[in-house]
Amino acid sequence: MMQGLMMDRPLLISSLLEHAESTHPTSEIVSRRCEGDIHRYQMRDAARRSRQVANLLASLGIEQGDRIATLAWNGYRHFELYFGVSGYGAVLHTINPRLFAEQLVYIINHAEDRYIFVDLTFVPLLEAIQDQISGVEGIIVLCDAGHMPETKLSKVHCYEALLAQQSEQFDWPEFDERSAASMCYTSGTTGNPKGVLYSHRSTVIHAMGSIGEEALGLASTSCFLPVVPMFHVNAWGTPYSAAITGAKQVFPGPGMDGASLWELIDAEQPDLLLGVPTVWLMLLNHMDAIGKKLESVQNVVVGGAAAPYSMIKAFQEKHDAFLIHAWGMTEMSPIGTVNSHNAHMESLPLEQRYQLQLKQGRPIYGVEMKIVDDNHNELPKDGKAYGRLLVRGPWIVSSYYKNDDDSSFIDGWFDTGDVATIDENNYLHIVDRSKDVIKSGGEWISSIDLENAAVGHPDLVECCVIGARHEKWDERPLLLAVRKPGSEVSADDIRDYLTDKIAKWWMPDAILFVDELPHTATGKLLKINLRQQYENYLMEGEPA
Ligand code: AMP
Repeated sequence: MMQGLMMDRPLLISSLLEHAESTHPTSEIVSRRCEGDIHRYQMRDAARRSRQVANLLASLGIEQGDRIATLAWNGYRHFELYFGVSGYGAVLHTINPRLFAEQLVYIINHAEDRYIFVDLTFVPLLEAIQDQISGVEGIIVLCDAGHMPETKLSKVHCYEALLAQQSEQFDWPEFDERSAASMCYTSGTTGNPKGVLYSHRSTVIHAMGSIGEEALGLASTSCFLPVVPMFHVNAWGTPYSAAITGAKQVFPGPGMDGASLWELIDAEQPDLLLGVPTVWLMLLNHMDAIGKKLESVQNVVVGGAAAPYSMIKAFQEKHDAFLIHAWGMTEMSPIGTVNSHNAHMESLPLEQRYQLQLKQGRPIYGVEMKIVDDNHNELPKDGKAYGRLLVRGPWIVSSYYKNDDDSSFIDGWFDTGDVATIDENNYLHIVDRSKDVIKSGGEWISSIDLENAAVGHPDLVECCVIGARHEKWDERPLLLAVRKPGSEVSADDIRDYLTDKIAKWWMPDAILFVDELPHTATGKLLKINLRQQYENYLMEGEPA
């Protein structure tokens, strides 16, 4: 084959920062800090301090490929570590603080983290497990000397004090773009979390692919508020996309509740918000309670779990904001599909548009997808056939870190574990996780669609649907619902509400009210225990 004659420059994370510093030096980065105040600086400050981070790593004897962990909220110091650690050639391991203690211990030891940079909030988490992570050489607390906590941690240092000693000059090294840049563990609902190791190349290509109008729609004029955490799939890659575009970033720090988010939105006027449905439920409820409108917000990207109909409608009709539904996974860096605004959607009557917005969107360039049956035969893209969703592309995992289990990898494709339909226009609809779908008499019922129909009831806060064993139908849906405080809505009321919203045979066989529902470390419903607990409810009546 004749070779092209173009330069082969490596796609490195440091090149994103160099671009940002020279092209968007004054782009603003605003952060709510754990210390309680609001901090603001510019991209050129972030670049300068990232070089100090690199010098700090050198002074600690860190070598390329070593793992450096963070346990931190979304904030400017975390942003500096993203670029300083990866740019240096070390691997940034972002730890999800919501993992259970034993999972934290497991992933820190499995990744062999040498240092951990930790926000003040999470110091107690490390104090509780420090005896079990003896391989860690030091803990660096992300604050200045005046805020250093009293702590039982040994080998502890102050970030700002260390940084102040470092030179602001550092020449970013050049190396193979396929080198590891960062890692994130999946919050597995069964077994140990699995490590996904992103490369510089995959990160940069994902960032380039995710900024356009067909994806997140980021531009130099954008101001965005990523509520999606930097400790979970790199905040959907937005720190890197921000470096390309120079968009203003507003980091919420520990303030993920409705009131704190609104305060920041009101002060900074972002036009784009990004996060999982649960945080938007909190924000929408807060906005209802104070009777205010989100004036500056034009788009809200919702992913990580399905966006309910009621949320799409509430953002549009109460706040004049368009909900961009997106789907992805830790294993996909994470963006797979985005349901962006387009001319076709504009032409639809509102109700039809909402129905289309319920789908998770179309793949962005770089992601290929197909659905297959249990024998791996491809199924038609007709919007009706459903099967296991397989994907491939340059920012999709090819194997897990130090893990021989190759059951998710099939002929160069990654099996997502999701069940989906794909329609003629390549719109994806996630039916369910394959382990959550309810198999009723050979037909499948989507627990997600049922949950989202039910949660539209104004008296319900959250819903969870699981399959319970049934004598005749194998499995039937059982709905667990959390009522709003003070509400006395009954199971019959919910049934009436659902009647014209779902197929008749989807009606849950039992509707039970609970005080709260369990969640995974990434805020998703944790169904495994509930399934065990209610497995025999429809046969025997009482949960285990
Ligand atoms: P995680 O790796 O923790 O981000 O989880 C990825 C999984 O979340 C996917 O495999 C889906 O099951 C689910 N998920 C992500 N986005 C959506 C969405 N928009 N609708 C439904 N499920 C989603």
